[in-house]
Amino acid sequence: MLGFPKPYPEELLYSTVARAGVHDGETSPKQLLDQVFLNRKVIATVDLPSHVQSIAQQYPENGEPSTASLIDQHTLLPIYAPFMPAERVLKLREWMTGSSYGAVHLASGIAASRVKAKNNLYVCKQCLLEQQSIYGEGFLHRLWQVPLVKVCPIHGALSRTNIELDSEHRHTFFPIDSVERINDVLIDNQDQVFAKQSANLLNNYCEGISYSQWTLFYKRFAANQNYLNGSRIDHAQIRETVVKFWGKKWLEGVGLHPVDAETSWLKSIFRKHRKSFSFAEHIVAITALSEGQVNIAYAIQEAASLKVHLDSASTRMPQTDVIFESPTSPDQLQWLALLSECSPKLARNGNKALYARLYRNHHDWLMAIDLAFHTESSVVNNRVDWPQRDRQCARELKHIIESLADYLDAPHLSRTFLIHQLNQRATIEKNLSRLPRCEFLLSKYSESTTEYQARRLVRAYLVMKEKQKEIKRWSLIREAGLSDERMTNLVSELLTEILRD
Ligand SMILES: [Zn+2]
Repeated sequence: MLGFPKPYPEELLYSTVARAGVHDGETSPKQLLDQVFLNRKVIATVDLPSHVQSIAQQYPENGEPSTASLIDQHTLLPIYAPFMPAERVLKLREWMTGSSYGAVHLASGIAASRVKAKNNLYVCKQCLLEQQSIYGEGFLHRLWQVPLVKVCPIHGALSRTNIELDSEHRHTFFPIDSVERINDVLIDNQDQVFAKQSANLLNNYCEGISYSQWTLFYKRFAANQNYLNGSRIDHAQIRETVVKFWGKKWLEGVGLHPVDAETSWLKSIFRKHRKSFSFAEHIVAITALSEGQVNIAYAIQEAASLKVHLDSASTRMPQTDVIFESPTSPDQLQWLALLSECSPKLARNGNKALYARLYRNHHDWLMAIDLAFHTESSVVNNRVDWPQRDRQCARELKHIIESLADYLDAPHLSRTFLIHQLNQRATIEKNLSRLPRCEFLLSKYSESTTEYQARRLVRAYLVMKEKQKEIKRWSLIREAGLSDERMTNLVSELLTEILRD
């Protein structure tokens, strides 16, 4: 399409495409899809659109803006990327570049998340007036569409519009002039705080933070904000602060009121991370504990800068992530050197003065380190060099995982399946507690039932499409070897989405 408009600062790509249609005088949605994407099946997606490359190709002169910068600056990826494992972000970016068959939403965890995407388009009427006077036309600002955001930080309450995003008009990019405002959203003071933190997220793209880094970040954060009870996290106190800061009503309104149970998201976020938490959960926890003082973008940079050593004792035991300070004093270094040779008990008996100094000055650190080394020396069978065995098996495991990663036909990559591909599977299975690297790889890469079923569904879809078979619900299920009874909820959502495309 000639003269395709460039996106304005913070404009959603959805809005840029809609403007392109207006500039070109293109009134038929299908024609617009043909012109921009050469594909009439493209869905007008607001948050994490696919086919971004087709948009980048509209700017042939100097290749700017690039696909990557369009994704970073004109989609909602920045609110998800800092909280997902690096390889998942990479996959998402690939899918957003090309086509995704609904996989983007599944992989980003939006479908599974407590925090749902908005069902309607939202606008700030004051911003629209200002855009009109500056640019001569209005456009959709990214922040308006961020889940749970109800206000424009400058002007106040957003307005809900008549444009439903999951409706039969899924292939239409609605121009801003065709949008009707239905009502202003009801807001509280907390909504201002939440919207500002969300804006901070959008403006500071970051990715590649591991679960271990987030785990360590929250342990340190709790310590720095004085939420420790001895060397333990004071979950009760944290919950009290969060509820007091945000208010029960507001938290319930956004679906994040932390229950007083082991399964509460708030407890989990201060424990070892095994899954991604949503941007909203991070904002709620970090803002409340710092009494609004810590910018979420700063917290993310902090987490990204943390060094987590896979080869230190700390990964052997989750609780040794509680090393709040890096060992920099001569006493600490001397203690570590001693522990590499003997048990904490022997080290203590032989160096009472050193132990006493550490006890006084670095208590939490000392407890965590001793616990790690103590457990290891008392449990481990010394005839086997477990760290070495661990490294060797982890290499083997990594190789297996890599060779299967892009293989759509692979069997269910469950923990058991992966272990059984290893040469010494029986030993490994029985001694996983001594093999932290292997354990880490297994928990990171083994596939859940949902992930496996989703993969089969996508594979079946691609096969049928390639053979140009007519895709019906029953035929797709049969090709994928699934059944309604066994299908998980998420997969049946994905199925509905695929069929709608
Ligand atoms: Zn505004």
